[in-house]
Amino acid sequence: MTRSRVRWILAVAVCCRLATVPHPAEATSGGGIDPRVEELLQKMTLEEKVGQLNQYSAAFDLTGPPPPEEAARARYDDIRNGRVGSLLNVTGAAATRAAQELAVNNSRLGIPLIFGYDVIHGFETMFPLPLAEAASWDLAAIESSARHAATEAAAAGLHWTFAPMVDIARDARWGRIAEGAGEDPYLGSRVAAARVRGFQGTDLAATDTLAACAKHYAAYGFAEAGRDYNTVDISEQTLRNVALPPFHAAVEAGVATLMNSFNEIGGVPATGSVHLQREILKGEWGFEGLMVSDWGSIGEMVPHGYAADARDAARLAIVAGSDMDMESSAYIAHLADLVESGEVDMALVDDAVRRVLQLKARLGLFDDPYRYSDLEREAATLRNEAMRAAARDMARRSIVLLQNRDGLLPLDAGVGPIAVIGPLAADKDAPLGTWRGRAEAGTAVSLLEGIRAAVGDGVEVRHAEGAPLAIGRRSFVFELEINHDDGSGFEAAVEAARGAAVVVLALGEDAFQTGEGRSQVDVTLKGVQVELFRALREINENVVVVLMNGRPLAIPGIAEAAPAIVEAWHLGSQAGHAIADVLFGNHNPSGKLPVSMPVHVGQEPLYYNHKNTGRPAPGVPEIVFWSHYTDAPNAALFPFGHGLSYTTFDYSRLSLSHGEMARDGEVTAAVTVTNSGDLAGAEVVQLYIRDLVGSFTRPVLELKGFERIELAPGESREVRFPIAAEDLAFYTAAGRWEAEPGRFEILVGTSSANLQKAELLLASAESATQ
Ligand code: BGC
Repeated sequence: MTRSRVRWILAVAVCCRLATVPHPAEATSGGGIDPRVEELLQKMTLEEKVGQLNQYSAAFDLTGPPPPEEAARARYDDIRNGRVGSLLNVTGAAATRAAQELAVNNSRLGIPLIFGYDVIHGFETMFPLPLAEAASWDLAAIESSARHAATEAAAAGLHWTFAPMVDIARDARWGRIAEGAGEDPYLGSRVAAARVRGFQGTDLAATDTLAACAKHYAAYGFAEAGRDYNTVDISEQTLRNVALPPFHAAVEAGVATLMNSFNEIGGVPATGSVHLQREILKGEWGFEGLMVSDWGSIGEMVPHGYAADARDAARLAIVAGSDMDMESSAYIAHLADLVESGEVDMALVDDAVRRVLQLKARLGLFDDPYRYSDLEREAATLRNEAMRAAARDMARRSIVLLQNRDGLLPLDAGVGPIAVIGPLAADKDAPLGTWRGRAEAGTAVSLLEGIRAAVGDGVEVRHAEGAPLAIGRRSFVFELEINHDDGSGFEAAVEAARGAAVVVLALGEDAFQTGEGRSQVDVTLKGVQVELFRALREINENVVVVLMNGRPLAIPGIAEAAPAIVEAWHLGSQAGHAIADVLFGNHNPSGKLPVSMPVHVGQEPLYYNHKNTGRPAPGVPEIVFWSHYTDAPNAALFPFGHGLSYTTFDYSRLSLSHGEMARDGEVTAAVTVTNSGDLAGAEVVQLYIRDLVGSFTRPVLELKGFERIELAPGESREVRFPIAAEDLAFYTAAGRWEAEPGRFEILVGTSSANLQKAELLLASAESATQ
């Protein structure tokens, strides 16, 4: 069968589905279609409908006179003529009001615009990178962080954030690993739902909420070799069991929109995938919100070799269920013609337009198009003191204590001199991370500032950079240049470290080493950072390495020799204070890794929930025929779920209420955790399962629950995890989610590599009824 014939059949199937499926919003989280949406639809011309599906980035000033350049002028006129449904990258109460006036006062129907923006981890006040926040395993804090970001952004006139990114990322080379919740579908799903709740609240029309956007649908994180935008070719079972669960969780949490992705998957660009968008998302899951394309991803189906030209791409995208065209201009140029020629059914356009208009209704824009563009609220909300305090609190919850030999940490704030060294020690920009919204460059609290503020004037704090990390221009758009040979600052650094009570060495990545378009083949500390560490370690044993980064790093040379290692990610505007809180014990760290840290980049993609293989261990010692590397271990340096505290937690024996479970039954796994140290602290107790035999092979471990508990010294708490069949379910070879009867391991502990185990038998349906 030819490809176009397959597409034709799919298109017919889709249209039939539309004809029989209930009205798109009858069962929506939005509580039914707003009557004004239908009224408008009746009045709209085809061109006006297509205009609603068109989204531009407004790269010109909207508050002044019409822009003189031809391309910008054309877009300006499109806004006035009702040929634009949404703009991205217009921010601020004044600019959004001006843009809204252009649309509302000039277009025939006066339909307001939606303003979207990448509010990824804060708007002006930066919170930790999403990967860092996931390390807190603190869902309430993550939800609250998203709400803070929404509050700032909505006060600057915005309606819609292109977040959360819920892509599962198993490859440290992929720069966008920084934007998600890491490698695990369960943690990723819980975080996705928390962030959706945080951004959206319970009312999209409230002026402190934003419509959220779960992205990038789907499997964008599975780019071959970790290279951004690269080909994805994963099986349906990996798609369903690993990549899709966080999207489903976001949909269940009521996410208003999704964004599709740049990648192809199984030979079909996601943007043109009927299977992903029509069949799974809008069909199986009943999603009735809006699907926006990624930037230019409709047009990119041409270089993918899937669409012949922009017109063909527009047809494929609308048939597949991409409702809004971000920056391809393929819909505005071709969709009306495609409908008139009969190649695209009007019902598809109506369905997409209805989704756009319904979102506008839910945002309250038909009641007042200017409700978010309020100068006074903007001035009172942005970067206020409460916002800063919230950012600091989230930042310290995101820190992971990786290593702490001989209890070097926490430091005594009264003991000096303290040498604060390293390329990132005084850096006020890197902690802001990638996708820093409208935060001004260089406005984070540096580690040096944080330490100075923590110890006061009584303690000598020395500073030396040692060596720069990035040289030249640092920007979101341009390539970054790394210093590979300038070690001229080493001598001064060594002098500063000599005789110091402790050396705090800040190493890691520049903000623009991760994020979009920032894949790397080498995930070690770049430049001369390891040499700097060695030089300092030679003259001072008490080196605390503080890592600031957006991806899991490989740290050969450091892991073995540094007594203490603190994973501090890119923590946002208050980074330096938050790290100092942890270094001096004002906050007892409780973060746990949401990604595996590799020994070597050659292990990537590296993830704890891998399959067992047929040769998981050496049959005979020293014989090579088992699944391993001859020059590195299989295991991570620091595994998923790992993270230390300044106190210690003892686990009692794991108990299961029953060794056997009926399909409709429930079993409880219980363990008592005791704080056996001298400090109050929080522990994240983790529950994993292993399904020993499946119709598809199952991972060696799967996270299925966790609880973050706070314990005073000496205090004990029983943690109980109820387990039902749905917790044991997966997308089986029968093509549905179900738990297959048989033997399971139930595991509970402090990290994916430190667990106790019990056995559970899930009875078959037959034995349950006997
Ligand atoms: C990114 C998206 C982002 C969009 C709008 C794209 O390049 O992939 O994540 O939301 O740009 O800025």
